[in-house]
Amino acid sequence: MNGVTVAAVSTPRGKGGVALVRISGENAFDIAGRVFAPSSGKKLTEYKPNTVVHGVFSDSDGAFDDGMAVLYASPRSFTGEDTAELCCHGGLLVTQKLLTACFSAGASPAGRGEFTRRAFINGKLTLSEAEAVGGIIDAVSEKHLGVSLRQLGGSLAHRISGIYSRLALLASSVYAYIDYPDEDMTDVTVPEMRERLCETLAELEELRRTRRYGKAISEGVKAAIIGRPNTGKSSLLNLLAGEDRAIVTELEGTTRDVITEKITAGGVVLDLSDTAGIRESTDKIEMLGVGRSLEQINSAELLILVLENRLSEADLPVVEAIRAAGKESRTVAVLNKSDKGRCEKPGVFEYEIELSALNGEGKEELVKAIETLCGADECGDDGTIIVSARQSAALDKATQSVKNAILALESYTQDVAGMDIEDALAALGEIDGRAVTEEIVDTIFSHFCVGK
Ligand code: GDP
Repeated sequence: MNGVTVAAVSTPRGKGGVALVRISGENAFDIAGRVFAPSSGKKLTEYKPNTVVHGVFSDSDGAFDDGMAVLYASPRSFTGEDTAELCCHGGLLVTQKLLTACFSAGASPAGRGEFTRRAFINGKLTLSEAEAVGGIIDAVSEKHLGVSLRQLGGSLAHRISGIYSRLALLASSVYAYIDYPDEDMTDVTVPEMRERLCETLAELEELRRTRRYGKAISEGVKAAIIGRPNTGKSSLLNLLAGEDRAIVTELEGTTRDVITEKITAGGVVLDLSDTAGIRESTDKIEMLGVGRSLEQINSAELLILVLENRLSEADLPVVEAIRAAGKESRTVAVLNKSDKGRCEKPGVFEYEIELSALNGEGKEELVKAIETLCGADECGDDGTIIVSARQSAALDKATQSVKNAILALESYTQDVAGMDIEDALAALGEIDGRAVTEEIVDTIFSHFCVGK
């Protein structure tokens, strides 16, 4: 157990029905007992762990609130240490008073992510599971939540652990070769080793391919709705946002500034901008807006080009701007106002979708196209998706080392490949935390907030 007992408010700052103060460490029970008196008259520590107890919170000035307390005995707690969870009313003052009372009773303030960090250090969670806790808290899309939940259940740790064991087995047969070169101790021949390394490489590549979608469901994708004025861009933004965010009008050129909304399309989070209509304009203010649209084409990772029924002469400058930016393969063309009559697909883009922003027809198909463009189809059936940039970087390292090992087998002896396999193992070890430096651990938990 970590020597210092820490406390923090684990619920968000602000007014609410209840707030939760968590205390973890060897003095947790004692500290909780000093600030909380059960209404039964018994001592808190006389209750069995995992029992919800009603009582009164007090400090040196006397009682200030009533609420609940639960004790969790080591190792059967989130952190693996003795932990107390105190639930008071969710007022700013009352929560602060309870926390201060815990400090006066001997607790120290918890650092960012301290509880999850302790859970990791005490072997309650692997690093990828600890990051999944962060994912659950940060998730704004259902998909991100689902992926984080599966990761917390160990899905990624399980995949990585499988790859790790297979590589470790290869490494051990290399050692057998190094130690007894003349005695054919190794049961794996060079062609067999190459084959197994290639299988591992394929598995790693498969995981790496999920990162694009992982980023889209967690960090989000910068996207822009572009097209001529009055084609229905604002209406489409509203349709995707599910409520009226942008002002819709029948006059041309009224969306003069760029409106940005964070919305979800399927599992993908989009930072979606509705730009002023792109067209030749003499109006000064609108000219500025047009310039911004062109900027959006250059900076967005995903473009939704809105056309009215078909591609017309007047749309060509926009299409040209998309081509000039090299973004054709990152564009979905929407043939809007399909309710008014037949649409003609221009056959310029891979994704061209008939839609009515007015009645919503075609929305599902558009969402599907957005998901595909963001890499949804690159993910396997088991739901493992690489969300964290850190995990992705470690996977890149592991992949490169396995590639090096395959190359080494072609030109050198097995022991050279063995060193590359070792490097791959070290990189994989970083993912679930079996081999991480203090620095990496610090960086990860510094992204958490206090109370987590
Ligand atoms: P923007 O200038 O491209 O942002 O276009 P708006 O969203 O402001 O829409 C311009 C006009 O087209 C408004 O009168 C909308 O009601 C209308 N509109 C937009 N989408 C549709 C659609 O799918 N069908 C029909 N019939 N009208 C639409």
